[in-house]
Parts: sequence; structure tokens; C-alpha cells
Amino acid sequence: MAQINENYLKLQAGYLFPEIGRRVAAYQKNHPEAKIIRMGIGDVIKPLVPSVIKAFHEGVDEMSKTESFRGYGPEQGYDFLRNAIVEHDYQTRGVNLHSDEIFISDGSKCDSGNILEIFGPDNKVAIQDPAYPVYVDSTVMGGRTGNIQDNGFYQGIRYMPCTATNQFMPEIPTGKVDIIFLCYPNNPTGTTASKDELKKWVEYALKNKAIILFDAAYEAFISEKDVPHSIYEIEGARKVAIEFRSFSKTAGFTGTRCAFTVVPKELMGYTSEGKAYSVHALWYRRQTTKFNQVSYPVQKAAAAIYTPEGRKETREIIEYYMENARIMRESFTELGFEVFGGINAPYVWINSGTGMKSWDLFDKILDEAHVVGTPGSGFGPSGEGYFRFSAFASRENVLEAMNRIRNLSL
Ligand SMILES: *Cc1c(COP(=O)(O)O)cnc(C)c1O
Repeated sequence: MAQINENYLKLQAGYLFPEIGRRVAAYQKNHPEAKIIRMGIGDVIKPLVPSVIKAFHEGVDEMSKTESFRGYGPEQGYDFLRNAIVEHDYQTRGVNLHSDEIFISDGSKCDSGNILEIFGPDNKVAIQDPAYPVYVDSTVMGGRTGNIQDNGFYQGIRYMPCTATNQFMPEIPTGKVDIIFLCYPNNPTGTTASKDELKKWVEYALKNKAIILFDAAYEAFISEKDVPHSIYEIEGARKVAIEFRSFSKTAGFTGTRCAFTVVPKELMGYTSEGKAYSVHALWYRRQTTKFNQVSYPVQKAAAAIYTPEGRKETREIIEYYMENARIMRESFTELGFEVFGGINAPYVWINSGTGMKSWDLFDKILDEAHVVGTPGSGFGPSGEGYFRFSAFASRENVLEAMNRIRNLSL
């Protein structure tokens, strides 16, 4: 008898996006004339930039000739890409990494979920609430939780509420946790962590031999000078942190697939007897056993982001999205909403200030403005009352959506 992993049965049925789809479809059916604008899902809309496409084509052409054909590539990714990452993403910010510490992958979603495999089942996992759903669901799948409770929390996870009350920066745990997911700039709240705040987390992790899993998928959207781009800008972080970065949002690679994870060599985990063991060695073993890298043309396309033209072209697209975010911030502020994010991240996180629940606000905005956003409660119980708008939309749609929203009756 083949037994299933029953931890999967604890997972809440994929609730958020199907429920949004259901409500939008029902509304459209009853109001066929309504022109609905969707600003809910965090997927980019702009095509790959010209220098990326050029490199991508060249990579494909190389695969067509015996002399330049490539089979399996290097285990951690091609040197040309890892060296470009080390130089442009890290050296320029005073962070020295070795290219051996970079693992190219096909996504931060996979990496941030798979990473838990190399850690023991008894680790206490701390997760921001609200959060990108991968962290909670992967923790559940790995058997590190009990069942979900009526309040929406799984037993066994240490939730760290992030609301306006604490400026979306969770308190340092009072007890002991072993693995800490942090995402900055944050999805869904769009907020950032200062160096001083990250320093406290690194100190906590050093003191408690904990590991920080730092998701920096939105690093490229940081516009303010003093916001750290990498956890490794904090002294000591190399001993306690893994960093996830992705080209998905940075350069429109959501459908092309390329990302990377940094595992410093001096990062240690511990056996149950307390013996230190290299986490890098474990991740290397995991990846070389279960993963065979990203295709050569895709890695070549990703490396083009780091050329002078590639940087300029991707920067322009990021600025386009961030102008959308600025317009959204302004409109909601005018309406009297509390507005967060949208300065260093492509998400605007709003609260009506009237105590209205997330799903009620969803229905109201759909009904009165024919605009779709994402209810904050879908990202975790502490997101209740909030609402997320994504800046990954055309300017035309953003302007039209904001015009309609300005006329909302609140
Ligand atoms: C979009 C996103 C990612 C990127 O995932 P990929 O698998 O690289 O496309 C990672 N983390 C967060 C929080 C995201 O929103």
C-alpha cells in the first residue's frame, strides 16, 4: 500500500486566487458590460528587453552547431553568470562573495521551498504574517506543523505579525526559533527593513545558532539610498543567512525562469549532537542530486542583464512599474486610505482605515470600480483589513483604475 505524505492533507485548498476568480467571473456574468481591470496577480507584463532577447537568440543559435553545442552545464550554473552576479550585485555594495557560493536555479519559489529539505524536521520555523504563501505551505508539507486552527494559523509555526503597528517589521522572537523567513522588500506589504533592523535579526541568529532565509526577490525595486539590498551588507550575516534572488521581477523572467540562491561557505547548521556542519555542502548535495540547472540560452540571457545596455533597459522597465506604484500611492492617499509600500517595491498595501474587512473591500472595489486587487487576508491572518495592488500593469490601466477608484463612496 503506497501511503501518501499526509502533511499535504493539512494544507488549506488553494483558496485565494480561485476565490478571486470565482467572484470576478460571477460579477462579470451579471454585469457583462463592466470592463474589469485586474491588478491582483504579481506577474509582470512587459516583454524581455532587447539585449536579453539578443543574448537569448545567440544562445539558441550556439546550440545548433556542433562546435558551440552544450550539453549538461556546470553544476552550480555557468561561471559567466555567477561571476557577473558576484561583481554587479555584491561587490558594488561592498559584499565579497565567491562565485562558488552562488547556485543558479530556475526560481526562488522552488529554492525557498526546497531549502527546508536540508534542515531537520524538528526545527521551529518563524514566518512573517502576512507572507508569500510558499514559506508556510512548504513548512507544512515538510511535516513541521500540526493542523490549521480556526484562527487561520497552523500549530507549530511561529507567526510574526507585520502590521502598521510595528511598521511591518516583526518583533525579535522572545523564545528560540531555528529558521526564520524574512522577505524584504516585502511581498505583499511592499515595505522594507533598515540596516539597523536587519542587524538585530543577524544578532539573534548568531546568538541562537538560527538561520535566516532572506528572500530578496524585489531587491531591484529599491529606490531609497539607505535601504539594504542584501542581508550580507550586515556584518556577520554570512554565518547565518541564505539569500534568494530572482530575475523574475527584476527582468521579466517569470516565464523564462532564472534565479539564484547564495549559501555562504561559513554558514553552519548543527547535528542533534550539536556538531557544526556546512549548509553549503548540503545544498550542493541536494541540488546536484535533484536538479540539473537552467538551460544555457536562459543563463546567457540572464547574464545580459548585467551588461551596460541590459542594465539600462531593465532599469527603464522597473521605473515604469514604479511610476505606476507612485500613481497608485497618490490616488489612495487622496482617498484617505492608509498607504504603505510602493516606494521600494512594486506593491501598494492599503487599508481603508474604516475597519472594513479585506474581502468586503474586494467586493466594493469590484462592484463600484470594476477593479480587481488582492485581499490582504489571503496572505495570512494579519493581512486582514489590508488590500494589495500590484504595479505590474499598463499605465493606461493604472490611470483608468485610479480614476474609477477616486469616485468610490467610502
Ligand atoms: C515573485 C516572487 C519570487 C520569485 O519567484 P520565482 O520562482 O523566481 O519566479 C520569490 N519570492 C517572492 C516573495 C515573490 O513574490
